[in-house]
Amino acid sequence: MTALLEVEDLRVAYGKIEAVKGISFKVEAGEVVTLIGTNGAGKTTTLRTLSGLLKPAGGKIFFDGQPLNGVGAHKIVAMGLAHSPEGRRIFPRLTILENLLLGAFLRRDAAGIDKDVQRAYELFPILGERSKQAAGTLSGGEQQMLAMGRALMSRPKLLMLDEPSMGLSPIMMQKIMETIQELKSQGTTILLVEQNAQAALSLANHGHVMEVGKIVLSGTGQELLHDESVRKAYLGED
Ligand code: ATP
Repeated sequence: MTALLEVEDLRVAYGKIEAVKGISFKVEAGEVVTLIGTNGAGKTTTLRTLSGLLKPAGGKIFFDGQPLNGVGAHKIVAMGLAHSPEGRRIFPRLTILENLLLGAFLRRDAAGIDKDVQRAYELFPILGERSKQAAGTLSGGEQQMLAMGRALMSRPKLLMLDEPSMGLSPIMMQKIMETIQELKSQGTTILLVEQNAQAALSLANHGHVMEVGKIVLSGTGQELLHDESVRKAYLGED
């Protein structure tokens, strides 16, 4: 059986600067895979390329058995790949409900959309309580919840989350990680980019450590969590 996502020797450049220098990894259906690494390692660039927002300079991407090279961003969403971007990018003047509905922009099944709005409210009750308020009135952590809820509204086969814990208080971060765990237990396949290596590796089936555009170490979440070099570089131990 082929994996849901297969990335082979992917390279991405901004002009002459190569930000991703030939990385390969897979995501099997039902698992959580994390990319960890310091600032500028190329994690966000990788996700933006998978979403069709950047063009690869080389390599291959297969999603659900089909090549993604040359496929436009809208089509990629329609194929089942959703992206909750770094920095959240919600629409502050639109209401929370309107933001959620934007995530379903390719769907025409009103009843199904309504069901998924309810599901987002179950996952994140604050979104339901404040559905008619402008999204800009939410706190940073709540906006992160909205971005995740919006990405789920396309009923993705693969959900990509870019630094969902960025800038959040420890309590909010824990809440976001618990939600990712809950989505995992419901069978959602997730590709998670995180600076918080401890949290990400604790819930991931597999992880890859990126440094300056390359994957330098791969393993199960538990293997990486206990790896000495990972502990020193990313978990703040000497
Ligand atoms: P972070 O956690 O800081 O977002 P990252 O691992 O996601 O880091 P990227 O954002 O993918 O890293 O950046 C990879 C490299 O590409 C960095 O050296 C960055 O400066 C560079 N880069 C990113 N975006 C651009 C751009 N639009 N133009 C030029 N260079 C860029």
